[in-house]
Amino acid sequence: PFDFQGKHVTVAGLGVSGVPAAKVLHGLGASVTVVNDGADERARAQAADLEALGMTVRLGDGDTLPEGTELIVTAPGWKPDKPLFAAAEQAGVPVWGDVELAWRLRGPGAADWLAVTGTNGKTTTVQMLASILKAAGLRTAAVGNIGVSLLDAVLGEEQYDVLAVELSSYQLHWAPSLRAHSAAVLNLAPDHLDWHGSMEAYAADKGRIYEGNRVACVYNVADKATEDLVREADVEEGCRAVGFTLGTPGPSQLGVVEGLLVDRAFVEDRHKNAQELAEAGDVNPPAPHNIANALAAAALARAYGVPARAVRDGLRAFTPDAHRIAHVADVDGVAYVDDSKATNTHAAEASLAAYEPIVWIAGGLAKGATFDELVAKSAKRLRGAVLIGADRALIREALARHAPQVPVVDLDRTDTGAMRAAVQEARRLAQPGDTVLLAPACASMDMFANYNKRGDAFADAVRELGSVDG
Ligand code: ADP
Repeated sequence: PFDFQGKHVTVAGLGVSGVPAAKVLHGLGASVTVVNDGADERARAQAADLEALGMTVRLGDGDTLPEGTELIVTAPGWKPDKPLFAAAEQAGVPVWGDVELAWRLRGPGAADWLAVTGTNGKTTTVQMLASILKAAGLRTAAVGNIGVSLLDAVLGEEQYDVLAVELSSYQLHWAPSLRAHSAAVLNLAPDHLDWHGSMEAYAADKGRIYEGNRVACVYNVADKATEDLVREADVEEGCRAVGFTLGTPGPSQLGVVEGLLVDRAFVEDRHKNAQELAEAGDVNPPAPHNIANALAAAALARAYGVPARAVRDGLRAFTPDAHRIAHVADVDGVAYVDDSKATNTHAAEASLAAYEPIVWIAGGLAKGATFDELVAKSAKRLRGAVLIGADRALIREALARHAPQVPVVDLDRTDTGAMRAAVQEARRLAQPGDTVLLAPACASMDMFANYNKRGDAFADAVRELGSVDG
């Protein structure tokens, strides 16, 4: 591993990744300076904590490169076009993100990484993957946004054979030397473009996940951009491209045949037929996009050498996190489903494709998105729509253009109580056999602290309907 003793390291950004990184670097003997743009109360408290340990903290100026810096370790959210990084480039100072730091700190014989990125489905897929690896008797963890942090996984007490690692495009941007055992890009849709500068730059950052892969580069057959990234990647000799598809798989692919998840990627050498991995009903929930996630997880696990049985056992043992297509209750023959985590149009499209007919509850902060494609693709499944939140007019207009026959209730509200009203309106529109689906296609921060709170408000309102009914 890298020797930090006496090195002048600048940590860019306090917060969830910066504070632990600074502590680790300090513990390894580096001379640490932390720079942070803000200087609010929380930042001041964190700064005091680090200063007490002997580190230097500069609040309110994240743009000037501290004198003598030999390495910058940045929080993944910091934009590449910040003046700090221009100054670093000028001075020949390397910049690492939290992932690069963790990667460089791995000891000899450290766990392999099976890495997952994509616009949507990352968390779900790494959790399914970890569940499959566990079912195979391996010591593993889902690492990333939810669960264990990368630094803890690499430096903690716990020993792992293999890690299921979720990586964002930001993290990949700052991880030049990462070399996964195998990696998957689940899908690519426009997101975070203001950070990356362009769709090309965003795709290129996602594509870094394949660099140096040893066994398999897993891509989505239905999303050609992911296959293009595999083609462009520089991988180890013998590494294969493995596709996953909801249809019948070709050679070197995993797919679905008559309700069975099958693998033609890692068995063809031995016999021609596909090997059965699991039933679609083993995937929770068995919505198409989620079966795709399961196939991606299975492909990575198989690349690691896991037997087919473990795929089935692992998928059966998996339960999704809250607010991801969670079935809340049935009231009067209508199912109420919470997909508050559908914070962009690509995610909402996936959950809207999983039900029919749907009374759709949507709206919130659009983050620059347009809704025409989403509404056009989903129009025929909609029984009705109820709109809430700051940018609901954008969705209303898209509905008027592409689904003029669909009744729309525009609640014209952004207060927290609007969710309760929305659920009541949705109930009025729904008929037995329908699904009322909260899939906002927008961020939640106009009305709620986060998507969890938004989903909770929905679930509370649904339970209220149920209890009034008895
Ligand atoms: P991420 O970690 O990438 O944000 P999650 O697994 O937390 O992804 O899922 C977020 C949301 O994205 C889900 O609630 C669902 O609406 C949607 N989603 C999940 N998997 C997919 C997929 N493969 N394709 C499209 N949308 C998906």
